Amino acid sequence: MSEQIRSWLSSQRDAMLGLIEKVVNIDSGSYDKAGVDAVGEVFEAFFKSHDIDVERLPRDVSGDIFRAAIAGPGNAPIVLMGHRDTVFSKGEAARRPFTIRNGRAYGPGVTDMKAGLVLNAFVLAAFKKFGGNPAPLVALLTSDEEIGSPQSRGVIEETARRARAVYNAEPGRPNGNVVSQRKGGIFMVMNIVGKAAHSGANFEAGRSAINALAHKTLAIAALTDLSIGVTLNVGLVSGGQSVNTVAPSASGEIDMRYARHGDRDRIFGAIDKIVATEHVPGTSATLRIKGEFLPLEQTAGNAGLLAIYQKAAQEAGLNLEGEATGGCADSGFTSAVGTPTLCATGPVGGLAHSPEANRRPTSLENALVVSSRSRRGSLKGLRARHHLQSHLHLARAQPPTRRGSE
Ligand SMILES: [Zn+2]
Repeated sequence: MSEQIRSWLSSQRDAMLGLIEKVVNIDSGSYDKAGVDAVGEVFEAFFKSHDIDVERLPRDVSGDIFRAAIAGPGNAPIVLMGHRDTVFSKGEAARRPFTIRNGRAYGPGVTDMKAGLVLNAFVLAAFKKFGGNPAPLVALLTSDEEIGSPQSRGVIEETARRARAVYNAEPGRPNGNVVSQRKGGIFMVMNIVGKAAHSGANFEAGRSAINALAHKTLAIAALTDLSIGVTLNVGLVSGGQSVNTVAPSASGEIDMRYARHGDRDRIFGAIDKIVATEHVPGTSATLRIKGEFLPLEQTAGNAGLLAIYQKAAQEAGLNLEGEATGGCADSGFTSAVGTPTLCATGPVGGLAHSPEANRRPTSLENALVVSSRSRRGSLKGLRARHHLQSHLHLARAQPPTRRGSE
């Protein structure tokens, strides 16, 4: 059966690239509901054309969520997850449409993560066609990861709770590795209210919101503890009215990262306290969370899934490791509900800059041989993924004009 899957996937290379091109050329920034929905509809049509059931879960602000599924043994599915939104603004696809140069693909969102979605879709199509999947397979296509998944998180968690494993097709690391640990993150804004006064004529009546912001910024930054992976960054500030006015208002945006679940409440509580402290008499401040990701921790379940993946990769001639990164992703949500999770299983980005750049073509040949020899059903899905990944080693897109939440 794996031989059939192998040869069918080999025959689908142009179809995969065609599907990637189609979705890359649709703008789908996180706030562009129409665009994110349009990308979802392309995948919906793909699934339907392969006789795969797909449901559409409407969202009122973000793009809708699409969930496709094929049957298999047992009740707990393997979930292949990915997000359809990008960090790019409208018009980027027209400015920089999908292209392939020297065997590498370029275009907005091609690696983060439309190629990963295509990979997931073809894995489902292959197993729908030939069977042999060790569990039901679910492809979950979310819509707002780059802004912290405010409208997808509930569905992600609900889908993960029923699953036996989750693979998140974020782009593989440039050296071919996957991601086994990610930090959690909270993105916050503090707004400070002071009192305006002329800085020459009426200085004593003023209450400087900027001075308060400065105190808070330094106090928050001092919570950084690199030894346990906690970092605090006040990355955006604004405030004031004119140079000769005591500032009546100021605000600062805070990026908090942490590696361990147990640190979240403690660090957030400390920030909350700093913001509430009246550093400058007569000023007040509020704190609001704009977005949040949970950490992907190295649990026993996650380590076990990585080991399975590494073994399958090894048999396909690929040596890869699990890496830790400070970047956040939806994989933290699925791990936090207790489901074994592995991240960055999508096609590799940025291979041009990697010393491993010449490894993949050989690996593809190995993958073909190994997957055709294999008899172990539980690893079939993984082999198919590696096979696809080898087909789709795509370069990272040009540096984005603005970063998402990662
Ligand atoms: Zn992503």
